[in-house]
Amino acid sequence: MTRAWVEVDLAALRRNGAAVAARAGVPLLPMVKADAYGLGALHAALALEELAPWGFGVGTATEGEELRRGGITRPIVVFTPILRTEIDALRRADLTPALGDAAVIESWARTGRDWHLQIDTGMSRAGMRWDHVAEHRALLERTRPAGVFTHFHSADLEDDSRDVQEARFDEALAALPERPALVHAENGPAVEGRAPSRWSLCRPGVFLYGVATRANSPLVPEPVASIRARIVELRTVNKGETVSYGGTWRAPDARRIATVPVGYADGYRRSLGNRGIALLAGQRIHVVGRVTMDMTMLDVTDTDAALGDVITLLGRDGEDVVTVSELAGLGELSPYELLTGLHQRLPRVHRDSDDAEAAA
Ligand SMILES: *Cc1c(COP(=O)(O)O)cnc(C)c1O
Repeated sequence: MTRAWVEVDLAALRRNGAAVAARAGVPLLPMVKADAYGLGALHAALALEELAPWGFGVGTATEGEELRRGGITRPIVVFTPILRTEIDALRRADLTPALGDAAVIESWARTGRDWHLQIDTGMSRAGMRWDHVAEHRALLERTRPAGVFTHFHSADLEDDSRDVQEARFDEALAALPERPALVHAENGPAVEGRAPSRWSLCRPGVFLYGVATRANSPLVPEPVASIRARIVELRTVNKGETVSYGGTWRAPDARRIATVPVGYADGYRRSLGNRGIALLAGQRIHVVGRVTMDMTMLDVTDTDAALGDVITLLGRDGEDVVTVSELAGLGELSPYELLTGLHQRLPRVHRDSDDAEAAA
């Protein structure tokens, strides 16, 4: 019997993908990097195949190789810069690098394979600066990119940075010898913010996994991930007694306390101590005391909690849902960090609409 696990609703993931594609009006290049934000890259990619995405985005060659081994045949773009020493590995797995460094572009050109030119329009992380494209024109004439893209640094905000970045991107596009067939810029928050797309593909990530990043977003994602755990011990503590390390929580009166076998070593973060909210039989309950490495305690006084009952630490239970954004907010984390921080000790259980179940 599984004591604690992460449930992944692949049908909800697919509906989230369809919603983004419909709003953007262009095909998807779904980001399945970091094991699909912790939820299982191959499962996510196979679920999204039904939407006929253009291809998939990953962070590293190793992540791309895993998708190839799993049978993914569409283009796979590796978005983190590669070193020249990695060229052979990418070529062998038929992966498409995102390049910005002239020397690496020169080396990759010898493979004769496709690549995408990353333009740095203000993120200052990776890519060729927009105002350096003109000086590399000869190189880009010799080895033409199949795609060109940029990345917004504040797509979730209502400032003018996106317009500034788009103007720079337009300037870079105009400096290219020819406009590639594939031009892309938007991440999920950018599609939420503005649509339809001006470009030919969009690159949603976190939205697919159930996270809206903008207040009053026109798109509302369905929850995809749930953390579930069974109660492994129950006790009553008397008024004035404390729970967990440091004794940071003191019972105001006699309280029933449930222990679940999930702690910060599972990625249920320590900052959720005395703050986390969970669901039991549709009722909201609170984390009490510090989260420990392997266990967390919750106040179940007003419930019928019994040993073996399932507590939902994240996600939907009945009508109510603790969203990734809500839980991340309680723990002062970013939703991205919360999802990608879930450790492999929690087995991933993938479900699709037909309720077929496959533990990864
Ligand atoms: C991660 C990433 C995305 C997706 O971003 P979200 O905010 O998760 O939608 C898109 N493009 C690039 C280049 C990325 O690295």
